[in-house]
Amino acid sequence: MKKITIAIDGFSSCGKSTMAKDLARKIGYVYVDTGAMYRSVTLFAMRNNLFNEDGSVKTTELEKMMNNIQISFVFNNETGRPDTFLNGELVEKDIRTLDVSSHVSKIAAIPFVRKAMVAQQQRMGKDKGLVMDGRDIGTTVFPEAELKIFVTASSKVRAQRRFDELKEKGMPTDFNDILKNVEERDYIDSHREVSPLRKAEDAIELDNSNMTILEQSEWLMQKYTAACEKVQ
Ligand code: C5P
Repeated sequence: MKKITIAIDGFSSCGKSTMAKDLARKIGYVYVDTGAMYRSVTLFAMRNNLFNEDGSVKTTELEKMMNNIQISFVFNNETGRPDTFLNGELVEKDIRTLDVSSHVSKIAAIPFVRKAMVAQQQRMGKDKGLVMDGRDIGTTVFPEAELKIFVTASSKVRAQRRFDELKEKGMPTDFNDILKNVEERDYIDSHREVSPLRKAEDAIELDNSNMTILEQSEWLMQKYTAACEKVQ
């Protein structure tokens, strides 16, 4: 069967990665979480003191250091998803903190950061057979993707999901802080100049506010099957 490219975009914490990862495992495709890449650059910037006190980024310094940032993924058999490595160090947990979430949208709005990440993402997907989730996959990274999904859910539902996820990982946080962060990121991600978060014209929209994980997975599998039938 011909392999295709699957782009899954949408707002933060709307369950994109759960769906994407699950589909990739079932159909034997590679899964790439592009949010993890922007989070890794953010962690690097935080560790290297590249944020000013007002929260803005020291872009000149960061640009000079971009070549020192190597991001890679290694599949973890236990969790069934790839772990993120920053310069050879496992950072999967460190990049998911609320502190990183609060800084990431500033980093993701910088044109040279996006250029570097998009180039790496395009290399990862050059042979197709890939499920990639993010904000600009269907619009910028793979505008020719055979299947594009745009996921939405209310901000309260998304904050609750993030809250439950962090609690489960032993990283408890305040629900209202998470809700504020989700809404702030939505705003910055949708209003930035380069590749703002928006639905590609040919993307299929899914509002999963009232769907179970199983229902989403079944829905996505149907869309995948239909997309494959089209290209054979
Ligand atoms: O998906 P996740 O919530 O982990 O993404 C973290 C942040 O990375 C987003 O809020 C967004 O600012 C940025 N991002 C992006 N483009 C992508 C993926 C993520 O700008 N393709």
